[in-house]
Amino acid sequence: MNREAALRAALAETARQTVAQGLNQGASGNVSARWEDGFLVTPSGLPGAALQPAQMVFVGLDGEVRGDLKPSSEWRIHRDIYRARPEIRAVVHAHSPYAVSLSCLRRAIPPFHYMVAAAGGRDIRCADYATFGTQALSEAVLAALHDRRACLMSNHGQVAAGGNLESALALALEVEALCAQYWRATLMGEPVLLDDAEMDVVLERFKDYGQRGKPVPQSGGAA
Ligand code: 13P
Ligand code: ZN
Repeated sequence: MNREAALRAALAETARQTVAQGLNQGASGNVSARWEDGFLVTPSGLPGAALQPAQMVFVGLDGEVRGDLKPSSEWRIHRDIYRARPEIRAVVHAHSPYAVSLSCLRRAIPPFHYMVAAAGGRDIRCADYATFGTQALSEAVLAALHDRRACLMSNHGQVAAGGNLESALALALEVEALCAQYWRATLMGEPVLLDDAEMDVVLERFKDYGQRGKPVPQSGGAA
């Protein structure tokens, strides 16, 4: 399989995973990965669980579309992230239930748990509302992603980005888990928030947390 075919297959699998893991339903959400001088993105309006590698659409950073199908209506969000953030190579957008619920309150996720730092900062912002598929929504999302890899989107959902599809999907799952945990904590009272100094310590520790930089065998043994 050549590199483009492998990336198309990985995009289809990631889109399928967003549905299988409860982040999306039906045709909600979209997924992209940087490719050559643009990106490959899921097509508009088709159920994520049944997408085929050949259905991914190429969009150049100049907005030129190459492919038979229409790209995701949110292609501007994906394009503007890739234009502004060279370190980002994959983006997942989801209408995950708890993220949607919090986004309807137009509330950021505060530092109620140290894992909020997984998105890169002391909180996870909620982007201002704008109509789906518009340049205004893309600009609101890009602003909320400043110094972050994830944000909520008012009355809509969430966006998570990363250096590859696996990390963007993992962050989208983490954001959804944090929204559920925050919501549950608020049912019993007002959560105690971690202060800026503590969040800065956590952000520093995250720089070399886990197996960062170490080769990890994928199936438990030597090749
Ligand atoms: P697309 O199917 O066009 O990607 O739209 C889904 C969506 O989530 C719009 O915000
Ligand atoms: Zn959406």
